[in-house]
Amino acid sequence: LFGTFAKLTGTGPSAINVDEEREIDVLVVGGGPVGLWTAVQIKINRPSTKIIIVEKHPEYKRGHIVSLDPQSLYGAAHHPVIEQLAKDVTENNNIRTNDIEQRLVTLCGELGILIKKNCFLETRTQLEEMFPFVPVVIGADGSHSMIRKRVFGGQMRYYEYLQFIVEVKYEVSGTTRPFNMVTEAYPTMKVMGCIATEHVGKEKEGVTPVTLRLFVDEKTLETLSEATFKNPLCLPRDEFRVNEQVQAKIKLWLQAKKLYCNEQVVPDSIKITTTKLAAYASQAFIRGEENTHFCLVGDAAFGVPFFRSLNNGLLCGTELAKETSNYLNEGGIRQSRYTDSVQGQVTEHFASYARYVKGMAWPERALARTKSVGVTSLEKWTAVIVIVPWQVFKWSYDDVQRMRADDVIEQEVVEEEIVEVPELLSVPLDETLL
Ligand SMILES: Cc1cc2nc3c(=O)[nH]c(=O)nc-3n(C[C@H](O)[C@H](O)[C@H](O)COP(=O)(O)OP(=O)(O)OC[C@H]3O[C@@H](n4cnc5c(N)ncnc54)[C@H](O)[C@@H]3O)c2cc1C
Repeated sequence: LFGTFAKLTGTGPSAINVDEEREIDVLVVGGGPVGLWTAVQIKINRPSTKIIIVEKHPEYKRGHIVSLDPQSLYGAAHHPVIEQLAKDVTENNNIRTNDIEQRLVTLCGELGILIKKNCFLETRTQLEEMFPFVPVVIGADGSHSMIRKRVFGGQMRYYEYLQFIVEVKYEVSGTTRPFNMVTEAYPTMKVMGCIATEHVGKEKEGVTPVTLRLFVDEKTLETLSEATFKNPLCLPRDEFRVNEQVQAKIKLWLQAKKLYCNEQVVPDSIKITTTKLAAYASQAFIRGEENTHFCLVGDAAFGVPFFRSLNNGLLCGTELAKETSNYLNEGGIRQSRYTDSVQGQVTEHFASYARYVKGMAWPERALARTKSVGVTSLEKWTAVIVIVPWQVFKWSYDDVQRMRADDVIEQEVVEEEIVEVPELLSVPLDETLL
């Protein structure tokens, strides 16, 4: 046992031994923003709690910008670092996930929460061998959660795709600006025949990254099944693999940006991937076993698209931390009255958490569905309005002809050997919660 443990936890200054492991009160699997947040909340609520977080990567991988509503920090335990975070997101909702992660990792260090990086728990046996005596195990291991699959059995209450997206990432020389939504983006969408959103990043070393997202139907998305996050399709190199209609839409948008924003696309920088926006929830969020309460939080518990998942995850993390601290202080009989979203025998504290998550997941799913219907309706509206002669916002006939000129991504194409089509790879679920 010690051999396995030492191998998986490393032997550096922060390595721990079996005796210390026997004293752990809470194990958090997954050092993403929600796992770190939940651990920090427990430790501030109940400073004597011994907590360990295991994280499979040496460093947190994601650096995307998320929109964080200050309301999502409601009820959080008091600490200057948390208060500063609340202040920052009140001033500007947009924050990078690795910025949140960095602040929380530093706070974990200050509070004495042990983080074991490079520690990948792949199976239940590994979990049991390494941590046989932990009273509370929290699965904060994201949308592909090992804890949900291996401990809870992987049953889902619901799992549905709401929208299908072609994501086009490219770079622009110098700076650029996003289209005005009403006077520029909307008329361009009418010509393209689909809904599009764009995100213009910050200029760095003379180059600005831009992400364009096109909402398409499922069939169109399937034609791009070769495009994966690991191996995106590139334009113009892979133009024979990109559905002609999708290519025409991308070219039209880029041409419009060139004409009205003077955008100069960096050669060979256009990369295409696909994303399915899903709403899903685990069948249960708490599982009681002889020695341990298992809990799911964050993307491991449930997920919805349209920029809500992290917000929900933090609120659930705050609630779970309160119930965990109460349980560790008070103990309790494993005979709760509430049994929905629960597996096995659990105490009232954890049953109350399961009820809280379910109470949040259902309205969030309804909200996501409503937003999805909004996108579809807008799509239908633009398809119909385009034939009406008295439209308010539209490009002139000449503008449209110039947009259709095909020079925006034309480059000298180097003759390449046709490569075997790679096997269909499924879209990673963690990219489904944009
Ligand atoms: C482009 C993009 C934009 C988004 N924008 C928003 C937004 O504006 N607002 C919003 O609310 N949400 C947004 N989201 C969703 C948000 O990023 C996620 O909800 C959030 O990251 C979930 O955090 P988490 O800690 O639950 O999971 P994750 O961030 O996925 O972290 C899970 C961690 O667990 C680790 N792990 C996994 N399995 C194991 C294992 N077996 N052993 C050990 N470690 C493991 C992983 O390495 C990872 O570090 C966006 C997502 C994307 C992709």
